[in-house]
Amino acid sequence: MILYAAENGKFIEYTDAVAKLPQKKHNLYVNITNQCNCACTFCLRSLKKMPENHSLWLKKEPTISEIEAAFTHIDKNTVNEVVFCGFGEPTMRLETLISALQYVRKIWPEHNIRLNTNGLSSLYYNKDTAILFKDLLDTISISLNASNAQKYLAVTRTSLGLSAHKAMLKFAQECQKYIPHVILTIVDSIGREEITACQNLCQKYNLFLRIRPYEAN
Ligand code: SF4
Repeated sequence: MILYAAENGKFIEYTDAVAKLPQKKHNLYVNITNQCNCACTFCLRSLKKMPENHSLWLKKEPTISEIEAAFTHIDKNTVNEVVFCGFGEPTMRLETLISALQYVRKIWPEHNIRLNTNGLSSLYYNKDTAILFKDLLDTISISLNASNAQKYLAVTRTSLGLSAHKAMLKFAQECQKYIPHVILTIVDSIGREEITACQNLCQKYNLFLRIRPYEAN
């Protein structure tokens, strides 16, 4: 599925969600890749079992033309927020992601667009990537995961190593220049002490922190 909605922990083709679910507006999730440079201990990719017809595993990564074509089947009046998040890290396909964001901005200028990311794109590509999202995103949600580099590496098991935590925080601060809402996230299952440490870290860098409930599978 490229475009989907989420309902009670299940993923549904967006067009099916509109036909079947009672609410009038849905978040429209955009799934462009299953690749990631992390291997988080809690990642749904390894933990969540999904029936074939509700699977976010892409048989083939969609091209920009295929992503654009998928949008032509959607009634924009049914869409609440457009969220690029997928079942992988969207910035692994940075060029396609930027093209898709430009396309959605052009066809639906009035809609909020959010990117959910691990925040490692600048480190991964060895350049400032935050500026690429200027005028294209209303919100960026970045997984903070942990309060320090060692804990972060233990949780994310990223191939980018110990420098990843610092790079992610720098990326978040860069994003504040270009994106109206920059949100860092942690899950509530990491323990009181670690939550407090993350709160202190975000306060230090003037970053907004959201503590979200851990999603059991
Ligand atoms: S960054 Fe996201 S997609 Fe990648 S392994 Fe972690 S939870 Fe999974």
